[in-house]
Amino acid sequence: MCGGKDMAAEFKSTAGYDIVRCRDCRLVFTDARTAPPPSELYPPFEQSDTAAQRSARSALSLFTLQRAKLVEAAKSSGRLLDYGAGAGQFARFMAGRGFESVGLEPYSLGTTLEEPNLRLVRAPLAQVKDSLGKFDVITMWHVLEHLEHPVELLTQLRSMLAPGGVLVVSVPNFASWQSEVFKGGWFHLDPPRHLLQFEPATLEDCLRRSGFAVTQQVPFLPEYGTSGWIQSALNRVLPHQNFLYEWVKDRGALSSMSMAERALHFAASVAGSVPLFAASIPVEFMAAQSNKAAALTVVATPS
Ligand SMILES: [Zn+2]
Repeated sequence: MCGGKDMAAEFKSTAGYDIVRCRDCRLVFTDARTAPPPSELYPPFEQSDTAAQRSARSALSLFTLQRAKLVEAAKSSGRLLDYGAGAGQFARFMAGRGFESVGLEPYSLGTTLEEPNLRLVRAPLAQVKDSLGKFDVITMWHVLEHLEHPVELLTQLRSMLAPGGVLVVSVPNFASWQSEVFKGGWFHLDPPRHLLQFEPATLEDCLRRSGFAVTQQVPFLPEYGTSGWIQSALNRVLPHQNFLYEWVKDRGALSSMSMAERALHFAASVAGSVPLFAASIPVEFMAAQSNKAAALTVVATPS
């Protein structure tokens, strides 16, 4: 973030990557010099559309609604850009709520999709920036931690905001209780895909360096809290990492597993996730009181 070269080791992740801290700006990051290139970490994918997948997605739409409410409290209508849109679920949801919605996915590349009120663009930002226009709200749901040059990108996005526009950023919280409990095996640590590991102070610093001021901190977004406790705990006991998460995401990461392996992981994940889910809600609620929830979510405006 600051260009500094003086760093101190935090710990090694279970995936074998060193997690280090810059001694100058204090930002924690993943030493990802041995990581595969983005084209391998973020391959294009097609989602299957089985009844089970559809019902899982509809159950999780409660979380999407929470994101929507948060955005609408800051900006009730207008043009919305969801940067790092993935399959476009959030952008499409907001289009349904009256926003003129654009989802931009810069990694899993493919053709542009057009629906009423919705454009889903799968191309790098630099290639399409000038054709997208200005936005009243730009959202980044757990995207910033994937970037090698966060200040550069945020500065570009700032220039795409219309007067009065707001930015909504959510990232995993390296200073969370979950991170402290699971350390190198924490689900949201996710090296080498997660390059940056933000804490409250470093997220605010990153935004300040990009010309933004934080206007609101959102203490509690249960989706990241529950997924973090459930998947981190399941990863301790199941051989295949992130099975439940990948099953819900449905982007082909489980294709190498046999049917028997899948059945075992599915049964164990479902059985384990019920009590873990119930426990995670009050724990995350308490964690949020001292800014130790799994995710940091802020609203920011150009300063
Ligand atoms: Zn630094």
